[in-house]
Amino acid sequence: MRGVSDKMAEKLARLAIVSLQDLLFHLPLRYEDRTRITPIGAMKPGLAAQLLVTVEASDVVFRRRRTMLVKVSDSSGVMTLRFFHFSNYQKQQLVPGQQLLCFGEPRRGANSLELVHPEYSLISGTDVPTHLTDRLTPIYPATEGVQQRTLRKLTDQVLVHPDQVKELLPADQLADWGLPSLTEALQTLHRPTPDESLGSLVEGDHPARQRLALEEMLAYHLSLLLRRQQRSHERAFSAPDESLQTRFLASLPFKATDAQARVIAEINLDLSRNQPMLRLLQGDVGSGKTMVAAAAAVKATQAGLQTAFMAPTELLAEQHLKTLTSWLTDLGITVEWLAGRHKGKARKSRLERLASGEINILIGTHALFQDGVDFHKLGLVIIDEQHRFGVHQRLTLREKGREVAVDHPRSEATLLPHQLVMTATPIPRSLAMTFYADLETSVIDELPPGRQPIATAVISDSRRDQVIERIAGACQQGRQAYWVCPLIDDSDTLQLQAATTTRDLLQLALPELTIGLVHGRMSSTEKESVMASFSGNQIDLLVATTVIEVGVDVPNASLMVIENAERLGLAQLHQLRGRVGRGSEASACLLLYASELSGSAQARLSTIRETQDGFEIARRDLKLRGPGELLGTRQTGELQMRIADISRDSELLGKVQQLAKILDSQQSSSINLLIQRWLKGADNYIKV
Ligand code: ADP
Ligand code: MG
Repeated sequence: MRGVSDKMAEKLARLAIVSLQDLLFHLPLRYEDRTRITPIGAMKPGLAAQLLVTVEASDVVFRRRRTMLVKVSDSSGVMTLRFFHFSNYQKQQLVPGQQLLCFGEPRRGANSLELVHPEYSLISGTDVPTHLTDRLTPIYPATEGVQQRTLRKLTDQVLVHPDQVKELLPADQLADWGLPSLTEALQTLHRPTPDESLGSLVEGDHPARQRLALEEMLAYHLSLLLRRQQRSHERAFSAPDESLQTRFLASLPFKATDAQARVIAEINLDLSRNQPMLRLLQGDVGSGKTMVAAAAAVKATQAGLQTAFMAPTELLAEQHLKTLTSWLTDLGITVEWLAGRHKGKARKSRLERLASGEINILIGTHALFQDGVDFHKLGLVIIDEQHRFGVHQRLTLREKGREVAVDHPRSEATLLPHQLVMTATPIPRSLAMTFYADLETSVIDELPPGRQPIATAVISDSRRDQVIERIAGACQQGRQAYWVCPLIDDSDTLQLQAATTTRDLLQLALPELTIGLVHGRMSSTEKESVMASFSGNQIDLLVATTVIEVGVDVPNASLMVIENAERLGLAQLHQLRGRVGRGSEASACLLLYASELSGSAQARLSTIRETQDGFEIARRDLKLRGPGELLGTRQTGELQMRIADISRDSELLGKVQQLAKILDSQQSSSINLLIQRWLKGADNYIKV
């Protein structure tokens, strides 16, 4: 291309532009209308416009700083141009009588509208029309050393050869939906005519943008389908027998809900095949995922396979150890756990018993997949609360799960373990179908019977005394309560301080209660001993940081107080609240807020107050925050699409599915091209 030196190429690469195609997909952030001239009288504050004016007067004044004020007029009014930085040369140019073509966003000044540092060019009466363009002016995302002008010139060059990028979507289908072809869409987005709606171009509901978003989402979806296809060649151990599982289910103190029974049946079918299962189990907080996981592990055990059961925290790992031990020991199943504290002999003996196959189910954090942890015959990997693991980590876990099996050649060396991934953060169905297309999904959409709704109230911090009375009342009746002090700050230390201070204050106010404290700085042994006392009802009130957010299960606890609730996200509030309402007693959750509530904080708190349905909360979360959070990719930003925005474009998800089918049956040669076009090296990350 003309105008791309090596140096420029380097700079463009910083904008991820290395090919013509990249340039075309580098879309404007916004547009400026320089196709017409707006009279001063018709300007509105905040709306950028182009003016043709004559300089009336020019003054340099000293207020707080040196300022050049230029009074200009046209036949409809007068206004001021204000410059804080200006050269002598500029001062000499802007003399009375000089015509200017200016562009800028007016704001209200002292007496009239004013433009601060407008772009302008000097005009001599006759050459006005040559300064007007017939297209809206695109403003691109830029970077140091790459100016708008450069990007415009480069895109101009590419846009005259529209067939640079191949149309990969079926034309008749696009026409049916009223969507433009790829070249039309690109033309419109880079150089819109003045009659296009600026708002819809920028907001993203313009057909041209939708068309590109659709194609991008389709490419992601196809890459997942492809991955799934590739998996169909993989082999796993199969676990066909069900008799031990039947005994397990009969031995439980409760009967599986219909939803649990259905999901167990789905998993059983997968496990009995010799292809590795990859199943995402979604179930709201408290819906009883642990027993489903246990049922799967029992089935694997009967087939002589080992299970690795992974939890995001040691606290939760230990709780699972207790639960599973109590359920499974009588069935002759050996459950063990491996934690950071198991060192020396304790670790060695566990590892030996694991390698010999004596341990059937090993529970732990991701430390389970450290070097030196060798299974005898790993057949099932269960990942609990997977949304707590980062995307990257999940990917590694999955790969590790495979390596563990493959690295250690025994007789059935190339067989891969089945994987069950569990999450309490539900993903709306359409989203899951598109972005978890490489997984099977199961949903537990029912809570165990007898659960009472959790009465949720939003309360100002100024009514703390009443809240403390509530706690006293509940604890007098033998019930237990949580008091959560969430992250005030990113600093662990501050969070710790807040929790410690709160504990001290509460102890002063409630001297008759036994109050415990658990926080992230405690060693896991300390944490567990506190949790064990709470579980055993030796502690009435547990003051905690958000370490208790996931998984903790103490059914006798029926009151939850969350301080600074306004700072927490919806998913987190829902998770925290889910710590209560686990028994048959009526529970309550009190959300304390300290400061004036912002609009979005208000929206979050009323959502939590109004509904307890995790799916409904997820839907609203999707609206409020976008999908990054839901897909667990926010921290790492790995599901970064260039053009599509899954929450804004969620109506396109249905079309994505349809197109995937059409391409698969009629135009399969496009599939790889689409994936290459949009994903390049990124596709590795879009996995659970
Ligand atoms: P989560 O899905 O949040 O992990 P858990 O597995 O911790 O939920 O289950 C929550 C509580 O409900 C536990 O105390 C568990 O023993 C209990 N539970 C699970 N399934 C049932 C059932 N079918 N009937 C009654 N209680 C159940
Ligand atoms: Mg759980």
